[in-house]
Amino acid sequence: MIIHLKNSVSEETAKELGILHKSILLKENNTHILITAGSVKNLPQGLEDLTESFYVTDSDIQLASRNYRKETREVKLGSVTIGGNSGNTVMISGPCSVESEEQITLAAELCVKLGVKILRAGCYKPRTSPYSFQGLGLEGLKLLAKMREKYGLAVITEVKDASHIEEIIEYSDIIQIGAKAMYDHGILNRCGKTQKPVLIKRGFGSTLQEFVQSAEFVLSGGNPNVILCERGIRTFETKTRFTLDLCGVAYLKEYTNLPVVLDPSHAMGYAYGVPDLTRACMAMGVDGLLIETHPTPKSALSDASQQLDFNEFTELYNSLKPLATALNRNLV
Ligand code: PEP
Ligand code: MN
Repeated sequence: MIIHLKNSVSEETAKELGILHKSILLKENNTHILITAGSVKNLPQGLEDLTESFYVTDSDIQLASRNYRKETREVKLGSVTIGGNSGNTVMISGPCSVESEEQITLAAELCVKLGVKILRAGCYKPRTSPYSFQGLGLEGLKLLAKMREKYGLAVITEVKDASHIEEIIEYSDIIQIGAKAMYDHGILNRCGKTQKPVLIKRGFGSTLQEFVQSAEFVLSGGNPNVILCERGIRTFETKTRFTLDLCGVAYLKEYTNLPVVLDPSHAMGYAYGVPDLTRACMAMGVDGLLIETHPTPKSALSDASQQLDFNEFTELYNSLKPLATALNRNLV
């Protein structure tokens, strides 16, 4: 249950009530908010006179639930708005990893040429093998910052573990929590203490409930700027890398108030399928798309098989425009 206390309730009383009712205390626009477990369905005794309004939710999907906030949350990503009433489908593109200044510059220039406002690339890569390229680390973050300065792009890059979270917060405009880091509470709790937008990718073995509960850690920590990203889940199928859960996306759109981004690149795992899959995602009227592009995909140091070359990406991007018009959405 989410309880908005009356504005007359002091900070001290709100803190005491939080402890008494075993709830998280959050402050939003000068209102103290208590969040109990989702299993609490009736306003606890003694709170009647101190409560402005309260919201009962089905489960521990609470702050993210449409029962609590009907409208999709609006989040600012640099110069672009995602969610709210924007009607925007925000394109995020770039290589899997920052590999060199030349490579990331080419990717940034493609964004500028097409009008894409958000550049993605990883610097701390959560690889399955210790013998694979692990990312350029801080050197890569500095190159991303250079791209922001030079081209006015917003940059998104992933945090792999809590050891470099401060660097990611300092250098990125949007923090990406990778699929393998979705359960890392060190990362989730720290992301609750910043106001920078956080894009959380669904763990490939996680249920929708677990996925949204990860978002609840960030929201209840005090950061309202959370975006969900479906990037494919593991199923019995092995011909594609993962299985993009579009049913799950329908669920998230219906029951949560968080903007939803789709990542067909990691779901498919092979460049040949990415354009069709992206158009299917667009047809669902999602808030954003994340697509991997690389100047020379074959020589990429990570996720080589799924990245689109610049011609493929340009063709795909142009093919999305009439779809956006038909769906009454702005492709930005
Ligand atoms: C990525 O975006 O490059 C990435 C590693 O994604 P995920 O966490 O979804 O595997
Ligand atoms: Mn990747």
